[in-house]
Amino acid sequence: MVKRSSYWWEAAPPVTVGEVAPVPAKADVVIVGGGYSGMSIGLFLARAGRDVVLLEQGKPGEHASTVNFGAAGRTIRPKFSTLQEQMGTETAIRIFTEAKAWMEFCFAFIHDEKIDCNVQRPGRLYGAHTPEAYESMARDLELQKKHIPTDGFMVPRAEQHTEIGSDTFFGLHVLADVGQLHSGRYFRGMRERAEAAGVRILSNCRADQFRRDGSLHTIKTARGTIQAKELVLCTNAQTGDQDSLLRKFRRRVLPIYSWTAVTEPVDQKIIDAITPKGRMMLESVLLYTGLRTVDEQNRLLVTARHLFHYPNVEDVARDVKAQVAGILPDFDKVKISHCWDGSFALTFDWLPHLGFDRDSGAYYQLGMVGTGVPSTVYFGWKTANRILGRTKDSETVFADRPFETKPFFHGGPHWILPLARTYYRARDNGARDRALKKYGRQTRPG
Ligand SMILES: Cc1cc2nc3c(=O)[nH]c(=O)nc-3n(C[C@H](O)[C@H](O)[C@H](O)COP(=O)(O)OP(=O)(O)OC[C@H]3O[C@@H](n4cnc5c(N)ncnc54)[C@H](O)[C@@H]3O)c2cc1C
Repeated sequence: MVKRSSYWWEAAPPVTVGEVAPVPAKADVVIVGGGYSGMSIGLFLARAGRDVVLLEQGKPGEHASTVNFGAAGRTIRPKFSTLQEQMGTETAIRIFTEAKAWMEFCFAFIHDEKIDCNVQRPGRLYGAHTPEAYESMARDLELQKKHIPTDGFMVPRAEQHTEIGSDTFFGLHVLADVGQLHSGRYFRGMRERAEAAGVRILSNCRADQFRRDGSLHTIKTARGTIQAKELVLCTNAQTGDQDSLLRKFRRRVLPIYSWTAVTEPVDQKIIDAITPKGRMMLESVLLYTGLRTVDEQNRLLVTARHLFHYPNVEDVARDVKAQVAGILPDFDKVKISHCWDGSFALTFDWLPHLGFDRDSGAYYQLGMVGTGVPSTVYFGWKTANRILGRTKDSETVFADRPFETKPFFHGGPHWILPLARTYYRARDNGARDRALKKYGRQTRPG
């Protein structure tokens, strides 16, 4: 039997906090959304002496923050060359440099706060699905090296078996310093520290209406109304449509539905055959397959079948397994124990966003583009510093950038996504199949 719930909840289930507490009439700051973003902003503000109320429509952390893959990396989705072309060399350098900074900030935060969440830094590899994808990654890495220090390196196809048990890739791009963690225990540690710092967290308390009168925000919830000097929106892929302010941001984030699965404990020999150095794996296709270890129990965690909907968990577990085994044949020998779904938030420029919305007077930190495990606490520190008037410590290249939407896009799961899924799968799988037909599989030694 496959369990349909996040593996991270076994050790750290989401809990309701402050559920029966009345909604206070006033606060210095109201934060809407109780994931990593809202929780970290609340923590830093409360420690600076602000009276903070955090409103969460369900249980804190139960959405992206405890259903994710747990990679703490420095992923910037667009290529360095693309950003350089669009925004200039200096901005491209700042974006890539800050991604490294958010990763290091997150590791330092976990260390300083003594959060027990099994942080490790095994590195991550990206498998090239075609020779062209390998060449393109190699070119971009060379370009990056001219401008920023990086420990990334390329592994040609003939040597890739030292890194990954796959015979389908056409070489790899490795980032050796990237880490992984236990998402549930990380979130729990953050929530406990926010509570200890004095953040008043209200679970099952959805924010439904927003009004601004002079310098005060009035926020209406099903459980009462609260006024605050500052308002921060941290609703990410869960941004609703019940108010014009939410609708404005909902039009700017695309919720991407995806599946994650964890195996039963696996023989170490199988793990070594799949990932000899314990590195995380992603690939160069858009709708990628991902894999990492979950070391406390010798399990593997995988992600696949993005944008597919399934009513039955056994069916999705079967298809996830087949997709992963198509790339990593040894995965066929394992059994899946947990399988769950979740939505992460893409933006139209593929970059994370935070800033101050002049029209409403609200701060926002949402559209984290699958970087939020490490980036949210760094951005949370930046947002908190901005509210506290600490200008220098609030600077970030990601703040107040144009936050695009598209005509006719009103947010939420969109009819275009299944079409996009079909198109990108056909494009990427077709290219991979043609390359494998032309060059054959890379036979592994032994
Ligand atoms: C399957 C999956 C895999 C991922 N893998 C990775 C990864 O490996 N590495 C990585 O860096 N990132 C990853 N991510 C992304 C990462 O998890 C997110 O970027 C991060 O959790 C975002 O945190 P957040 O606090 O901004 O949003 P969330 O955790 O989604 O929190 C938003 C909260 O707002 C609440 N909310 C919404 N509207 C209201 C309202 N009106 N009133 C009150 N509350 C409201 C929601 O209930 C929710 O709890 C992944 C995400 C998913 C879904």
